[in-house]
Amino acid sequence: VTEGPGAAGSEALATLHRVFGFDAFRGEQQAIIEHVVAGGDAVVLMPTGGGKSLCYQIPALVRPGTGVVVSPLIALMQDQVDALRALGVRAGFMNSTQDFDERRVVEAEFLAGELDLLYLAPERLRLDATLDLLSRGKISVFAIDEAHCVSQWGHDFRPDYLALSLLGERWPDVPRIALTATATRATHEEITQRLNLPTARHFVASFDRPNIQYRIVPKADPKKQLLAFLREEHPGDAGIVYCLSRNSVERTAEFLTANGIQAVPYHAGLDASVRAAHQSRFLREDGLVVVATIAFGMGIDKPDVRFVAHLDLPKSIEGYYQETGRAGRDGLPSTAWMAYGLNDVIQQRKLIQSGEGDEAFRRRAASHLDAMLALCETARCRRGQLLAYFGQDADAEACGNCDTCLTPPETWDGTVAAQKVLSTVVRLQRERGQKFGAVQIVDILLGKRTAKVIQFDHDQLSVFGIGQDLTEGEWRGVIRQLLAQGLLAVEGEYGTLVLTEASGAVLRREREVPLRKEPKKPAASRSRSAG
Ligand code: ADP
Ligand code: ZN
Repeated sequence: VTEGPGAAGSEALATLHRVFGFDAFRGEQQAIIEHVVAGGDAVVLMPTGGGKSLCYQIPALVRPGTGVVVSPLIALMQDQVDALRALGVRAGFMNSTQDFDERRVVEAEFLAGELDLLYLAPERLRLDATLDLLSRGKISVFAIDEAHCVSQWGHDFRPDYLALSLLGERWPDVPRIALTATATRATHEEITQRLNLPTARHFVASFDRPNIQYRIVPKADPKKQLLAFLREEHPGDAGIVYCLSRNSVERTAEFLTANGIQAVPYHAGLDASVRAAHQSRFLREDGLVVVATIAFGMGIDKPDVRFVAHLDLPKSIEGYYQETGRAGRDGLPSTAWMAYGLNDVIQQRKLIQSGEGDEAFRRRAASHLDAMLALCETARCRRGQLLAYFGQDADAEACGNCDTCLTPPETWDGTVAAQKVLSTVVRLQRERGQKFGAVQIVDILLGKRTAKVIQFDHDQLSVFGIGQDLTEGEWRGVIRQLLAQGLLAVEGEYGTLVLTEASGAVLRREREVPLRKEPKKPAASRSRSAG
């Protein structure tokens, strides 16, 4: 940095030191804050964990008046306000979880100019009573958090966000800053347009984390694969292992400990005191592994997390990106490693079907999962695919630091194999009125006379034994990829396999099915690349 900070800049920096106790701004924080402190509007795209909050909290503290923060995350408001109050910031919130008296106190504080920050849900802000109240006090800045909620085509559309375009007309002199972590190019444009921010400056942080090596391996014996990965590549390193269930968290932590790796469990079923103890050990000690459900990680800021491992498939790319993003904040080489297999696909599809929520919710969950599966099955650069998902096309075709770049997967023409699987499913359904899961389908293809095959006379089917050209593991890989590509679907609590609308084209030989080759013996991990 050659130039000294301006007056606004030095006050912002002083606030960063004094209130938040941080040494320096990160990335574009300083530029954003100076722009808003000076009265400019801003649209900020920054990945989760990038440090968006300070971008409006510091302007709210530096400029006279109260910063009004619009956020849909009502459940987090109390925590956010508590955390700010612990730092000595005069913060309050108004939402539907409060009773009348609590709200009156906050209103009085606002009108008396005793609040630095006021958090509001969008549905509250649009009420005449609230707009009236705001008009009677002094506002320093409007922050619109999770601004992608204004996008009608996005996953989190909130009609109340549309009303926020009025803020600029009603308070033309108050700067507005819209922030989001999830923004494709189209959403970005929608935010600018619908929130009426035509003259806003745009700050777009890169979502790339070049020091993280992305790897996804086929799941065989996940605990053993994990152990080999840790021993070969991360001995003595701190890291996080994510599992889906509390039970597998416990078992995996025990397994690692029994094999000489220091590991502790973390999940919502543990006592708060145990959780706190494990979390603080992780932050304090060198080389501790935390095995956790996704309950772990929010707000954890440990710079030297060397790896994040997933033993189960995350529900979305957003989740995967957020969790893997906890590795390597210090910029040093780190690994995002995941083991992924057929059961992950079946389990997640089942969860969506039997889960709560209406049809629209299910469709959304399914499309999140589809994007995640496409990342797992891709034969192109993982980083390129990740960045493309976030609307940031990677410059280079290949990053050179992900498994598909380091060892390009072979593909093969799986059309005939796909037809064999699909016709087995069809035969069972049409000729017998039966539906079965992947295990039975594979046994039939391989011509195995298991007790269950005999019981159902499945050795009498014309497709019995037509798949002896592939191994069991390869057939599971074919089925996994068909599920991932939407050429096969999962139904009901037993996870039976059924056809989809797209299956017909394959059966009629109108569509080819390129597949990734399954490694003969799934490698636990690949050796560390040079550099
Ligand atoms: P986001 O809202 O973009 O997900 P946060 O604002 O919650 O990110 O910040 C993520 C973490 O980084 C928080 O723990 C925050 O305290 C920390 N952080 C943000 N800015 C800085 C900084 N300049 N120096 C040190 N830590 C920071
Ligand atoms: Zn790559």
